Amino acid sequence: MSFSALGLCTELLNTVAKKGYTKPSPIQQEAIPAILNQRDVIAIAQTGTGKTASFSLPILHLLAARPPAQANSIRALILAPTRELAAQVAANVDNYSQNMNLRTTAVFGGVRIEPQQYAIEQGVDILIATPGRLVDLYEQGVINFDQLEILVLDEADRMLDLGFIDHIHHIQSLLPEKRQTLLFSATFTKEIKTLATTMLNNPVIIEL
Ligand code: AMP
Repeated sequence: MSFSALGLCTELLNTVAKKGYTKPSPIQQEAIPAILNQRDVIAIAQTGTGKTASFSLPILHLLAARPPAQANSIRALILAPTRELAAQVAANVDNYSQNMNLRTTAVFGGVRIEPQQYAIEQGVDILIATPGRLVDLYEQGVINFDQLEILVLDEADRMLDLGFIDHIHHIQSLLPEKRQTLLFSATFTKEIKTLATTMLNNPVIIEL
């Protein structure tokens, strides 16, 4: 199977070709069409399988076809367990969206909050965040979630291991119910199944 068979727009096909990706990885072959079909997805995949592109590319495709983020608004939220992972996902998303007119920002703890507040005030199409800093920013009153269309839980099992379950439920309670939710996890434990039941709607399950 080729990337062009997956339904991605020309800009993204050019980007993956320029990066030297010759064919989609197994997770990408399954996840990209399901996400483009606006389905909720649970994907059980390890780091190194191409999982970041498997959600980033279709999210960029979907967002590019819809109106941009308004001030204080975000359209896609990617939650990640650590600042290292958040920064790494943001670097990937920036890289894949080079030729597209979309704003990406990463927010995490351990650095000043003011520049993050300023960035969100401008409107952000794709926000990559650790749960604690996102809740802090929300409590500062800078984030409006009304325009949120897509939520991603990346490395969901690690977020649970790090004790973020209450933060995740708090964040969920702030988001529109009508949204697309994608959950990525290395393991498919009972806790992950319970989390998926409360957060996803009739998901496509991809277990490789
Ligand atoms: P990830 O599993 O998202 O951490 O990705 C692992 C690595 O694989 C990253 O360095 C990506 O740049 C690379 N990658 C992702 N998709 C592909 C692909 N289809 N072909 C070759 N490399 C890829």
